[in-house]
Amino acid sequence: MSQALFERHYVAVAVGRPVRGEFTYEAPDALRPRLQPGVRVKIPFGRSTILGFYLGPAPTPPDEVVKKVRPLSAVLDSEPALTPDVVELCRFAAQHYRYPLGEVLRATLPPGLSTPKEEKAARPDVVHFVQAADGADPATLQRAPAQQATLSYLLAVGGRASVEEVAHAIPGAREHLRALVKKGLVRLEAEAVDRPVAEGLSSARPAALTPEQAVAVAHLEGLLAAGGFTPVLLQGVTGSGKTEVYLRVVERALEQGHGALVLVPEIALTPQLVGRFRSRFGPKVAVLHSALTDTERLRAWQHLRRAEVKVAVGVRSAVWAPVADLRVIVVDEEHDPSFKQDDKLRYQARDLAVVRARQAGCLVVLGSATPSLETLENARRGRYQHLHLTRRVDDRPMPTLELVDLRVERPRTEETADTEPPMLSATLTSAMRETLERGQQVILFLNRRGHATFLTCEVCGQNLKCTECDVCMTYYRGPNRVLCHYCGRAHPLPRGCPECSGPLLQLGVGTERIEAEVAEAFPQARVGRLDRDAVTTNERLTDLLSSFARRELDILIGTQMVAKGHDFPGVTLVAVLLADSALSLPDFRAAERTFHLLTQVAGRAGRGVDPGRVLVQTYNPEALPIAAMLRNDFDGFSAAELRRRKLLAWPPLTRMAAVKLESDSAERCAQAAQRLAAVATKAMPPPSHGVRLLGPAPAPIARIKGKTRWQLVLKAPTHAALAGPLDAIERELAELPSSVRVAIDVDPSAML
Ligand code: ADP
Ligand code: ZN
Ligand code: ZN
Repeated sequence: MSQALFERHYVAVAVGRPVRGEFTYEAPDALRPRLQPGVRVKIPFGRSTILGFYLGPAPTPPDEVVKKVRPLSAVLDSEPALTPDVVELCRFAAQHYRYPLGEVLRATLPPGLSTPKEEKAARPDVVHFVQAADGADPATLQRAPAQQATLSYLLAVGGRASVEEVAHAIPGAREHLRALVKKGLVRLEAEAVDRPVAEGLSSARPAALTPEQAVAVAHLEGLLAAGGFTPVLLQGVTGSGKTEVYLRVVERALEQGHGALVLVPEIALTPQLVGRFRSRFGPKVAVLHSALTDTERLRAWQHLRRAEVKVAVGVRSAVWAPVADLRVIVVDEEHDPSFKQDDKLRYQARDLAVVRARQAGCLVVLGSATPSLETLENARRGRYQHLHLTRRVDDRPMPTLELVDLRVERPRTEETADTEPPMLSATLTSAMRETLERGQQVILFLNRRGHATFLTCEVCGQNLKCTECDVCMTYYRGPNRVLCHYCGRAHPLPRGCPECSGPLLQLGVGTERIEAEVAEAFPQARVGRLDRDAVTTNERLTDLLSSFARRELDILIGTQMVAKGHDFPGVTLVAVLLADSALSLPDFRAAERTFHLLTQVAGRAGRGVDPGRVLVQTYNPEALPIAAMLRNDFDGFSAAELRRRKLLAWPPLTRMAAVKLESDSAERCAQAAQRLAAVATKAMPPPSHGVRLLGPAPAPIARIKGKTRWQLVLKAPTHAALAGPLDAIERELAELPSSVRVAIDVDPSAML
């Protein structure tokens, strides 16, 4: 009798559930021919049937386990949903970030594929195109800025594009297109297609590269031709034309039939950047962002997976995109905090981009005007190549930087001690007047929302706090309400202090209050406000950004949303209203964030033909990031900050992991934190290894949404040295009460 007849075939499966490790199943003969690594499978798990991923054959399990091995129920894909390179990246992420592999794999898939159902083709048989009518002129749409932007886009790409494409480029475009069709400015046409979208759209490229761009492009093209893993830091001052460098490199990869992946911080905030990729590559690029519908996301994913589209531009989650023949990865604004995901799988997409490039053996370009200290340190140690763009395009001057010392210009006297004096200093007011008189535009930056950022009792000195969170309530004068920025709890302004009924002083200035000050000082000026209170939808955002770009607004007031890579040539004055506001956060990266933010905001000034001027208002002109920013001294700042990090053993000179606990019960949270600290301490390597445990301690914000929060932090010279204590903590998790939730945050970005 042949053994083979009774042979059972065991396979390794990653389970789409929050459980660690790989699981062994049996592959029935009927299913075996369809098993290729990366295919989705349906598996019995406990009492339910769930999604899993076939990884490969597994060894015969020990006898006592064999009886319990169950068969796969079905194979769901004919082609693996996950390509080998994405699986490899997921394996790295699962291990590095200590997250279950099956959950990581599932997180990379578009919604239609992350459940145990057969893959459906999302590709429609018919694609709808829009064609601009002859003579359609955006200038006739002054009163409908969003429609105007939509029509301008359509004309910029040659007058014809698929609805889907326009909708990718411009949030809310479907609605604007409908309006344009009604007005007869645009025709709707349907076309049956095999390909995702028609090819052959025009691309707007500058006549010549600047000398520095040319050097950078030539160098990167050389690396592209040579092949192999090469990480490159492209450090270019604001307005130096980094995007054009990315475009050329991606273009070259595409010409050679290869794929490219471009990661950008926030697409809604930078429609111009995506527009430039769109207008250069037309339908050859898939745009991946959070505003896509499930179908659009699935379709974009399928186009990439089938190599019908070879370029993906997207936010952090695009690092998992199944780009075929990957030859180059670009990470734009690599220092941006939005590349870090801070829930569930807590990954840093910039870091994973470098890992993916290493695994694929390809070029990776990290671009920024203000590189993160992590990346800079890698360049300094020679792990990354370092390219510079030191001049702006057309040799436009960098803006002049001026200090406004608020200790002098905004003194607190006896009379003003319990009120807030105006935030617009005399220097700033006159600079604004001059700018507006010249017909140029102003950006005012303040990283605080609301009217008053806190309310203090005049009698007992208590701040009005949220009942659910350990944070101050922000006062909004418009609706006369107070709001918690952490849990969203809002209620009418109390008549007095909840403790002693004393009167509440409105302190700390936010953007809403600035808007009022500006309206009073410049009643004629057209003012827009860009923050998460004023702009709640992507449509509003596009409207606001495009009407500012078209100079229908004179002054834009906003939070860090105004700091992103906008290119508004009419802006010649930028003011930082209170540079100190982010300095004192209890986070070792506060100085770095402040420097980045100030430099990025300043970079919005003088990008057109007229030179720019930047006023920086502060109470702390000597603070390192502010003083260095005013000297335009990135190198000086980084060197000093690196020395400080080294002295205090913070990243990038050490590696870190934070263990974050949260619970409804303050007592249980504290106890669990103590327990984890105890097992971690026991698992510590000898002191000579330099691993340190900080805490356990209540988190800097000790309570959010009614939940008590504790944390412990591990620091070590290398990532590997963290393994012992982290393993011990992971093993202990099963022993904790289920009312305590624990997250391990490897390479955490914010300590709050
Ligand atoms: P950065 O991202 O470095 O701040 P951008 O890529 O936004 O700079 O470029 C700044 C501006 O200069 C953009 O309007 C861009 O279209 C333009 N630009 C870039 N390269 C060139 C060039 N070689 N010639 C003319 N204009 C250019
Ligand atoms: Zn009081
Ligand atoms: Zn709250």
